[in-house]
Parts: sequence; structure tokens; C-alpha cells
Amino acid sequence: MSQNERSNRCIGCTVDNCAHHAKSENYCTLHQVSIGTHESDPTEPKCVDCESFSLDR
Ligand code: SF4
Repeated sequence: MSQNERSNRCIGCTVDNCAHHAKSENYCTLHQVSIGTHESDPTEPKCVDCESFSLDR
């Protein structure tokens, strides 16, 4: 299966150092991801995180 076939086009992502990134395209390969926040009162995009991130070693 190619990287492109693994892309989930419902989840765009540019974090290509994540193990779940499609690499050849800016999409995630997971069927679903968990999004959360590290802030007590999130007010802008940088306040939220993909909690499914896994460092690609
Ligand atoms: S798990 Fe999150 S950070 Fe990793 S590729 Fe998918 S959307 Fe991006």
C-alpha cells in the first residue's frame, strides 16, 4: 500500500516528524485523532494539540 493510499484526507496535517504522518502528502494516516489542549482557557489555534502525535524515530 502506498503512502498516498494511507492518507486520511479528512485529517490534514503538516507535522511530518510524527510517525502517523503520510510523509508524501500533508495528511494523517490514522482513522481518527484525539485533539486536546494544554491550556486552562484555550483562545487560539496554538493552544490546542494533537494528542495522537508520536515521534517518528
Ligand atoms: S497523529 Fe496528529 S500530529 Fe501525527 S500525523 Fe496525525 S494529525 Fe498529525
